Amino acid sequence: MCGIVGATAERSVSGILLEGLRRLEYRGYDSAGMAIWDGELIHRVRRAGKVQALADALDSQPLTGSAGIAHTRWATHGKPEEHNAHPHMSGTSLAVVHNGIIENFEELKLELMISGYSFSSETDTEVIAHL
Ligand code: GLU
Repeated sequence: MCGIVGATAERSVSGILLEGLRRLEYRGYDSAGMAIWDGELIHRVRRAGKVQALADALDSQPLTGSAGIAHTRWATHGKPEEHNAHPHMSGTSLAVVHNGIIENFEELKLELMISGYSFSSETDTEVIAHL
């Protein structure tokens, strides 16, 4: 089952989010990711596999900002690979994490594609970002 963490603070929230993901590891997951607002744009780091792989990635590619979200994924739609890991984004100003299944995502995805949106994952979740 996936895990979701959100944080906003007067300091950078990266460490808070990572600690939250670590506390949720017991629930089971296949990939992990984090998105942080730096006051202008949202930046994201995701990794397939363990939260430690995400932590290692953040060491070399730190995210800094006072508001963010993070997720451990249990794949239902799309393989457990980095491009399917949450958060999912639409542009650089909106990011979402999601737990569960969107039953009508194929219909929604088709409508969005006809409207000109392009998708970078096979998840059901990405439709929420573009909607
Ligand atoms: N259905 C979503 C996916 O496959 C969410 C899975 C979850 O709850 O972690 O990405």
